[in-house]
This record gives sequence, C-alpha cells and structure tokens, in this order.
Amino acid sequence: MEDCIFCKIIKREIPSEIVYEDEKVIVFNDVNPAAPIHILVVPKKHIATLLEVSEEDDTLISYIYQVINKIAKERGFAENGFRVIANCGKDSGQEVMHIHFHVLGGKKLGAKIVG
Ligand code: AMP
Repeated sequence: MEDCIFCKIIKREIPSEIVYEDEKVIVFNDVNPAAPIHILVVPKKHIATLLEVSEEDDTLISYIYQVINKIAKERGFAENGFRVIANCGKDSGQEVMHIHFHVLGGKKLGAKIVG
C-alpha cells in the first residue's frame, strides 16, 4: 500500500532497525519502545486490521508465531517470558493500519490487561 508506513519500511523507503527479515515477514524495533525489548513483527502482505485476516492467511499467522518463538530464543528473552499484543481498531488505539504484533519483554511487565 502506497501510503502505509510499514509497507514503506518493507520497501526501505523509510529507515528502521530491522532485527529479522525473510520472504514473509519483517521484524524491527519499535521507534517508541514501551519495554527494553519492543519489536514489531509485521507480515509483508498488507492486511489493514485483524478483521481482514482470512482463511488464506492461516499459514502466515501461524508462521508469525513461529518467528516470534525463534527470535525470543535467539535473543535470549524466551526463558524470562514476554508479551505479544495485536491492536485492532480505534478502541485499541491501533495507529498503523497494517497488522503487526508487538513483542514486549526484557523486564517484568505490568498489568496483564491495560486500562
Ligand atoms: P499500534 O498502536 O498497535 O498501531 O502500534 C504502532 C506502533 O508502531 C507504535 O508502537 C509506534 O511506536 C510504532 N511505529 C510507528 N512508526 C514507526 C516507525 N517508523 N518505526 C518503528 N516503529 C514505528
């Protein structure tokens, strides 16, 4: 999508700190981290919100969790634990209309459900 900030990161039109990339996903540091580890796992396929995920994305969504698993182990935060958050729509505060999975860790996280 032309004016999507995450599509621009994927196309290297804007810079980001990429920590992992393959043909299906890109993973980069959140520019405004909420925890010592705060990465965003983003499918390269432009899907605006979780409401647009369909059966054809079965493999992709499962794959995203496999990538999270792999990164958590490789970067050494698997053992201590972490949190995965996906916002959807205005009440969640979703800012970027391209689905993404926040992975937060590196400290004891606060309330399990925010505000
Ligand atoms: P959400 O509120 O779930 O849509 O989260 C969007 C996230 O993207 C926020 O945590 C932002 O800090 C992050 N973000 C926005 N622009 C960039 C960028 N250019 N590079 C890295 N992270 C970004």
